[in-house]
Amino acid sequence: MQRLDIYGRTAAQASALGAETARAFRRLIDAGDQAGALRVVVEAMTSRGQLDPRLLRTSGEGELWQIRDVPGFRAQANFRSSFADPDTPGRRLPNPRFTISSTALRADGLDDLYTSILHEYRHVEQESEQVNSTTPREQTFGYGADPDEFDAYLSEVEFSYRREHMRTAALQAGVHWEFLSEANRAAFLSRWTAAQAKIQRVLGHPVSDVVATPTAEAYRQRLREMERSAREAWERAGGGR
Ligand SMILES: [Zn+2]
Repeated sequence: MQRLDIYGRTAAQASALGAETARAFRRLIDAGDQAGALRVVVEAMTSRGQLDPRLLRTSGEGELWQIRDVPGFRAQANFRSSFADPDTPGRRLPNPRFTISSTALRADGLDDLYTSILHEYRHVEQESEQVNSTTPREQTFGYGADPDEFDAYLSEVEFSYRREHMRTAALQAGVHWEFLSEANRAAFLSRWTAAQAKIQRVLGHPVSDVVATPTAEAYRQRLREMERSAREAWERAGGGR
């Protein structure tokens, strides 16, 4: 449910959002109003239809958007108990809370913020499917093997519009793919094939090149480490018995 910042990079100046939004964002950040700046971005994404306010309704404590320092992460989505959708009988709503790291709210960080919000919002759509499904999920260990994370990075490749972002999204999707089980890979095969063609087109080289870099290897090692500790925690808890 989290997004790892693997580059700690500075953002490009070009923006997916309109010039008006970009100006308002920068003005509010410069004035020290991080909450206002975040609100401007959320409103723009909502009016573009990228965030569905119905899925973002909350129940119980806690603001939907929270700004806090999250070491190593730009953004994170968590979920409270799902609740009945007042508009659609028989359906439940996922009840999300977003935490945006205050380090993500920088004047030059608009596009990274935008892609992080889209990534985390993808988890809201996944949670919405899960709270309305009775299909049991395969047991996986750690962040790397989680099919929801692959899906979120894959969706980033699908909407990516600038090379720098594509490079990151392709690296993360490419490395996560290595960790997926056969069954989980099968579910993504056609999207992943199309995404690889897009990666080749945008970057000018295949994803196999992207995952062969030292940055990719460092990321792979971190995922292996997370897999190992998830497995150990599961065994300590008497998992599988
Ligand atoms: Zn994620």
